[in-house]
Amino acid sequence: MSDTITPMMAQYLELKDQYQDAILFYRMGDFYEMFFDDAVQAAAALDIALTKRGKHDGADIPMCGVPVHSAESYLLTLIRKGFRVAVCEQMESPAEAKKRGSKSVVKRDVVRLVTPGTLTEDSLLDARRHNYLAAIAQVRDDTAMAWVDISTGVLRVMTCPVVALAPELARLAAKEVLIADGTEDSFRSLIEDAGASLTTLGRAAFDSTSGEKRLCDLFRVGSLDAFGAFTRAEVAALAGVTEYLDITQKGQLPLLRPPVQENRAASMQIDAATRRSLELTHALSGGRAGSLLDAIDQTVTAAGARLLERRLSAPSRRLDVITARQDAVAALVDDPALTEDIRDHLRGTHDLDRALSRLALDRGGPRDMAAIRNTIEAAQRLEQTLNKAELPNLLAEAQSGLTGHDAIHDLLDAALVADPPLLARDGGFIAPGYDANLDEARKLRDEGRSVIAAMQAEFIATTGINALKIKHNNVLGYFIEVTATHADRMMTPPLSDTFIHRQTTANQVRFTTVALNEIESRILNAGSEALEIEKRLYAGLSDSILAEQAHLGLLSRALAECDLAAGLAHLARREAWVRPDIDDSRAFTIEGGRHPVVEAALMRAGQPFVANGCDLTDTPIWLLTGPNMAGKSTFLRQNALIAILAQMGAFVPATSAQIGIVSQIFSRVGASDDLARGRSTFMVEMVETAAILNQADDRALVILDEIGRGTATYDGLSIAWATLEHLHDVNRCRALFATHYHEMSSLSAKLAGVDNATVSVKEWDGDVIFLHEVKKGTADRSYGVQVARLAGLPPAVVARAKVVLEALEKGEREGGGARKAVIDDLPLFAAIPPAPTPARPATSQVEDRLRAILPDELTARDALALIYDLKTML
Ligand code: ADP
Repeated sequence: MSDTITPMMAQYLELKDQYQDAILFYRMGDFYEMFFDDAVQAAAALDIALTKRGKHDGADIPMCGVPVHSAESYLLTLIRKGFRVAVCEQMESPAEAKKRGSKSVVKRDVVRLVTPGTLTEDSLLDARRHNYLAAIAQVRDDTAMAWVDISTGVLRVMTCPVVALAPELARLAAKEVLIADGTEDSFRSLIEDAGASLTTLGRAAFDSTSGEKRLCDLFRVGSLDAFGAFTRAEVAALAGVTEYLDITQKGQLPLLRPPVQENRAASMQIDAATRRSLELTHALSGGRAGSLLDAIDQTVTAAGARLLERRLSAPSRRLDVITARQDAVAALVDDPALTEDIRDHLRGTHDLDRALSRLALDRGGPRDMAAIRNTIEAAQRLEQTLNKAELPNLLAEAQSGLTGHDAIHDLLDAALVADPPLLARDGGFIAPGYDANLDEARKLRDEGRSVIAAMQAEFIATTGINALKIKHNNVLGYFIEVTATHADRMMTPPLSDTFIHRQTTANQVRFTTVALNEIESRILNAGSEALEIEKRLYAGLSDSILAEQAHLGLLSRALAECDLAAGLAHLARREAWVRPDIDDSRAFTIEGGRHPVVEAALMRAGQPFVANGCDLTDTPIWLLTGPNMAGKSTFLRQNALIAILAQMGAFVPATSAQIGIVSQIFSRVGASDDLARGRSTFMVEMVETAAILNQADDRALVILDEIGRGTATYDGLSIAWATLEHLHDVNRCRALFATHYHEMSSLSAKLAGVDNATVSVKEWDGDVIFLHEVKKGTADRSYGVQVARLAGLPPAVVARAKVVLEALEKGEREGGGARKAVIDDLPLFAAIPPAPTPARPATSQVEDRLRAILPDELTARDALALIYDLKTML
């Protein structure tokens, strides 16, 4: 029924047709409107009213809309909920459309496709994290992945065997991944498992031949060899990324740094499960709080924080790289005054990368330019501070990146006011004195009245008529008025040469002059002229800045390096961390090691953390036994974290550490069901264990906690046993192996590379007391029943469990097969959430008092008084 379609709806449908998998934000004046299914989905996702507008095919057209000025937050919600949004703008004003014909619809076009991997707005991004868009390409047997953060321009590429894709996606925490049409299904599930949104492009987007040409054009080079020797698959992946940017940004390419080739062998390999379980950058709860990253982040700038996350996600395997970074941290640890000075200067800087990227995409504003100016100034001050110190290489290099930006700084300094507005739209950001035309336009705009007053004085002087006035009305605009008595003189030469008669009223005669006419139109136009000039100047400044972008990129990098080194030094001093000794051996000797996250949590609760050593240098495998809650997992993880911190170039939470470079870290800690994928705890555990046994080389560090606990006792014990033997004989790696199967301790007698260690506890008055001390030897028993009692299991159950345990142990001693009766002997504690300690007979005044309280009847004030009271009874 196309005859009933309004021209606007026809335009809408035509645009929508090109963006079927996106929600179309259709600009109508001050709103982005959505129609049809888009409206239904968006209204639900955004919790806004669904209305209707007109009819289509006889049915109401559903509609909803969001105001343009607050569109960003709605965009963010939609993107977070997995939608992509095509933003369609009006490409002309309604007046321009009218000129083309009274029925013409305003021209509209999609200016941008917003997707999870292509965000640039500060409000849509986490300033301290990268937002990566990745592309995976396969050419014959080669697989490569390229990734870009368009908010900072970082573009990287790496050849990556298929098995390494998941770990690499986990490292980058990519938000969106591109693959070619027809790519194997296994890739899809891999990308979905990584939590990224998947986008499929036509195969042509990944064509390496045309891609190479596009990339050469983009970076203005004759050959990509200028940036490295890229494989076909790498070029294809880069091509996919840039093609997609072209599609989503509608040809307005973001600022891209030349592609950097990464080498997987240069960094420590950490798979997705290990990253998760070690809570490197995200805690298991999902957020940043509780992660290692959060615990060690003392950076004061967003770019510094992003660099820290990059380093922590990919610790190095190269001794020279690690040593250089350590040297930088060490120099600052030794000079706390310099460290704090550096941090102070850095606090005056802004996020240069993101400001540049917004300017490149024409989504920036004068405030981004001021940010660049201010940052260069802060960098100059920082440079002077560094100049006074003896610096290790890394910092000396950074120092040289801080200078040499005078030209662009001076330009911005002269051009911009101190605190410019966010947007160029309304002007008011160019400093007075920078552009004579602008100054005059503004003067006319602001001082129209005084210009006119000056002109009036001039006319009085030339005519000698003191009563002459310049006035304004809506019909004539500005005019000169004299009383009728002067009319004749005004209308005869020489005055009539200048004064042009306009109107005669009863008592007055009105004139104008060419000059007054000019002034009038200039005053009227001055406002818009000033704005036009400012916009032109803005574009010029933007071009000047972008011409310097590579150079400014170095500045940003230098600032981030300084921030990271100073942040790590600040942390190392505050927490008394030490510089680890790194070499190419297979040593692993930690003295007085701590777990930074657990320690911080304990400290908040006012409890001490017990430091523990670990020595795998001579016996590379430690078999750790001890009751639940003794601190086994904490100990295991802390050693992995120390290795990671050491190889990212940081100091470590220990009194001393010697570490031979670790090639891979594997951690299988704790068990969690992966019900979403229909895999049981046990299945997940076995899949991950298999990955470790198949991949760990002799430089790996493996951490296994309670392997086999998800199945029946003898199955579990056998699997744990065989796993340990495999690690010892085949993988020959360094490993920490925690188990509740005490039977395994006897393995140390058979395997030369295995030592027993235990986390000690004390038994006192029927309770266990955790000492959290790791020492050589085996645990005498598992104390499961005592731990269960601590957890609040009803006394009757605890008593019963003791009886059963004694019976079983007796059965075992007698070899009567009594133990066989126990099926699936899962550690009791893991299955039971902590509950309040069960009520015991009244023993103290405090308890009596507590028992007497009726909480429902207490006011907040009473409750506080009560707490004071209770404290006095202790
Ligand atoms: P396990 O793995 O043996 O069950 P965890 O490592 O989970 O035990 O530790 C249990 C709790 O004990 C931790 O949450 C922490 O509060 C405390 N803990 C662990 N290690 C230490 C330590 N070295 N010093 C002090 N408290 C510790």
